Amino acid sequence: MLQVAINGYGTIGKRVADAVRQQPDMEVLGVAKTRPNFEAETAIDKGFSLYAAVEEREHLFDEAGLEIAGPVEDLVDEADVVVDATPSGIGAQNKELYEEYDTPALYQGGEDADLVDVSFNARSNFAEAADADHVRVVSCNTTGLSRVIAPLREAYGVEKVRATLVRRGGDPGQTDRGPINDILPNPVTIPSHHGPDVETIFDDLDIDTLGMKVPATQMHMHSLNISLEEEVDADDVRELFADESRLFLIPERMNIDGSGKLKEYALDAGRPRGDLWENCIWEESISTVGNDLYLFQGIHQESDVVPENVDAIRAVTGSADAEESIEKTNETLGVGL
Ligand code: NAD
Repeated sequence: MLQVAINGYGTIGKRVADAVRQQPDMEVLGVAKTRPNFEAETAIDKGFSLYAAVEEREHLFDEAGLEIAGPVEDLVDEADVVVDATPSGIGAQNKELYEEYDTPALYQGGEDADLVDVSFNARSNFAEAADADHVRVVSCNTTGLSRVIAPLREAYGVEKVRATLVRRGGDPGQTDRGPINDILPNPVTIPSHHGPDVETIFDDLDIDTLGMKVPATQMHMHSLNISLEEEVDADDVRELFADESRLFLIPERMNIDGSGKLKEYALDAGRPRGDLWENCIWEESISTVGNDLYLFQGIHQESDVVPENVDAIRAVTGSADAEESIEKTNETLGVGL
């Protein structure tokens, strides 16, 4: 059993902890937190060993009546892999800690690509992470784009990707984010940083991205125009995507007209926290004009990277190949709507 440490138990960390716990070949050694908030309480309720991420704050946990198993250093020392799910930039500060204990580390998309040996997406470059010490599971948006680009490149070749990312202003729990009544070009400069981020997965890809932020918390929405190297029928693209386990083609009959209903569907389907691990592509939106492919997809920012983290754990420890890992992760979590 692979012993997995989770450092940073927030939006991503708590989901990865639950997902790791469901795997037959790994277990959660413990989770590290900086403060005794509601997430610390639920970690204890779920039976996770809680470690103090910052020594000077350990007394806050004692005062809140939450039992601490030890300092984060002990957790990192004993783990086979650490998943760092701390806020952007903190992962970089933690790198020294992971190096000190010689524990391979996974970081999240908020960290810079040059922090790590490999940027990771299971569908696109699983094998590149074998034996790497520092791996970055790319952001929710980059994950969503990579999952679509990889099969298109293999089947038809991709000449150029143009993507407009309509991004949620913040996650549901982020009360300090916005806008609350506005539509922002964000970043206002073009291209946005997302394109270069996708190039950390496909280094020879031609891609331009534009970003916006809107007053929504549920999901991101991508409007994609992908110029293929050959003329393709839209039905062929639908068939290609239907074979991809982490692409959900929303059928017209479901009458899902936006991210609100998508999230409602996830909750009705019994998904934990209403999570949507798959790219949600409106099937009717898949259209071709000559070599150009168009589509809309919804990306659940809080959860699409979760199965990717599980696969990245197997990739860095060499415990499975891509196909085996993706299948195991999908089966245990229930990926595939
Ligand atoms: P979050 O703020 O919800 O959670 C981060 C957790 O880390 C919090 O519990 C915080 O208290 C804790 N923390 C802060 N400093 C710490 C430290 N020094 N040691 C240990 N824990 C510490 O953040 P998040 O949304 O889960 O984001 C984490 C990473 O995942 C970021 O790199 C982010 O860019 C990336 N990411 C976020 C999303 C998203 O939509 N939320 C999607 C994909 C990737």
